[in-house]
This record gives sequence, structure tokens and C-alpha cells, in this order.
Amino acid sequence: MIHTAKYEADLHCHTTESDGVCTPAQVVRQAWEVGLKAVAITDHDTISGWSEAEKAGKQYHITVLKGIEINTDWEGREVHILGYALNANDDNLATRLSELREKRVQRIKKMIGKLSQCGVDIAFEDVLKHAEGDSIGRPHIAQALIEKKVVDNVHIAFDKYLKIGRPAYVPRNKLDPAEAIRIIRDAGGVAVVAHPGSFCTAQEISQWVKVGLQGIEVFHPENSADDRWRLTKIAKQNGLIITGGSDYHGHSVKPGINLGDWGVGMNVIKEIEQRSSIFFQQKD
Ligand code: AMP
Ligand code: FE
Ligand code: FE
Ligand code: ZN
Repeated sequence: MIHTAKYEADLHCHTTESDGVCTPAQVVRQAWEVGLKAVAITDHDTISGWSEAEKAGKQYHITVLKGIEINTDWEGREVHILGYALNANDDNLATRLSELREKRVQRIKKMIGKLSQCGVDIAFEDVLKHAEGDSIGRPHIAQALIEKKVVDNVHIAFDKYLKIGRPAYVPRNKLDPAEAIRIIRDAGGVAVVAHPGSFCTAQEISQWVKVGLQGIEVFHPENSADDRWRLTKIAKQNGLIITGGSDYHGHSVKPGINLGDWGVGMNVIKEIEQRSSIFFQQKD
């Protein structure tokens, strides 16, 4: 069944280049099918989906915003930082992201070791085969666990083994939100804290503003109505852009979430472009 987008622009989508189930071109085609005007490709630690998505964007007359999501660990919680309108040709960005992806591989291998200690034996190759793109992650372990009939779905895999506090969890290698913000800003991009829900305090957010944070993802399936109200207030107090997106991964990874279920108006793309140094460089 084809759904209709509830917003003009969905600024949070994953593809097969990280842990999504649709290729970048398929995501853009779906954006067109549901009636979106714009979509941001925000894969984890990789920009390798951008060029295919941009090509499809031209074909379907959909604006494609170049994005990224960098997951960090912060005081026992996960804080995800989105980046938008980054310089695709920035060598430093390419190096930093490739380091992060290499750390992902090491982390997945450690998690496989911890699973083995729990009596669950899977090989790295069992996980790798689900990671067709550039960036491997915990959802690929979840898929391997489903295939081996250890669990029935991704949600149970996280709840039982993979999330913070569960036996196979391994923390990321010392990456905090400020560093993720710096990586994005150094590449000319706009840094936005992703789906903070009720996990981040106003004080933490203003602390990250001091190191370059420029926006808050207010419209997201994991933010409650109360969260959206509180986060909107914090955004206004700090002069931050309010962004939104569905965090679309495909139904087998995140059931019940469709492209265009969450998002913002096209005016937000303008606000983002105005704050991106790439855009300014092009204008001057
Ligand atoms: P990683 O980047 O390897 O730490 O994996 C994080 C990704 O796993 C997130 O971006 C989500 O796509 C997914 N994820 C995190 N928590 C859950 C959960 N409780 N259930 C299903 N998927 C999750
Ligand atoms: Fe993900
Ligand atoms: Fe996220
Ligand atoms: Zn995401």
C-alpha cells in the first residue's frame, strides 16, 4: 500500500549503505511515490549513498539533501548527531568517517565475541552478508540472529542482546557528541542533535551549542508530544533550527515507520542551506 507523506521534507532516512533496506535510488523513488518534495539521506558514518540519491533526485524531481548520522555515547546514553549539507569532497571528512567505519567493524567483532560467551555462536561473515553497503552496525547482527533463528525480530535482538545494558553490548570507542559536531562542522555541514526525546537536558543541549550545535530534530517518531513541546522551547531559546524526519530504515528494521511520516516544511531546507558554509562558499 502506498502511503501519503504527512510533510514536505523527510530529513532522516537510511539506505543499504548503512542499516536501511532500500537502496539510495529506491528511497528517492519512494519519496516521489509518497509525494515528498525533499528527502535527506542520513546514513550512519558514510556518505556513499549521496551520488546515487542525487542522480535519482534529478530523475524524480526530488530535492536530495546530503546528510549523515554519527552515533555517539554520552554518559551511559546514546546521542546521535545528524549533519546536513556537508562538503562531499572534504578529504578530512572522508578520513574521519573511514576511521569510524573501521571502529564499527572492530566493535561488531567484539560483540560477536560477547554473544559467543552467551552461548550464541555467529561468525563475522554471517553479519557481513547483511551489510551490503559501506557501514556495518548492530542491526546487521540482529539480522544474522534472526536468520539463525536465535530471535524473531530486530526489536527482540536489541532488547535481549544488543542495546546498552544487555550482555552483548560494547560501547563505541570514545566518541562524544562534541567530537561528532566538530567532524560535521569542519566539513562545512550543519550539526543537529537527533531524536533527543527526554534523554538530553536543556543544559546539555546548550553546552553542545557552545561547541557548534545548530539544530534539534524535534519531529521524530521517538519524540513524544511532550518532548516536542520541550525541545521546541529549547530550540527557540538557543536560536536553533527545528528539523524532523521519519528515521526510515524499512519495515524489517523499523516496523511501522513509513517515509514521510515525520518531517518538516521546505523552508527548513533553506534554513539549513543558509547555515552551511558550503552554501555560502558557492554564493560568494
Ligand atoms: P550502531 O550504529 O551499530 O550502534 O546501531 C545503532 C542502530 O541500531 C540505530 O541507528 C538503529 O537503526 C538501530 N537500533 C538502535 N536501537 C534499536 C532498538 N532498540 N530496536 C531496533 N533497532 C535499534
Ligand atoms: Fe540505524
Ligand atoms: Fe539515530
Ligand atoms: Zn537514524
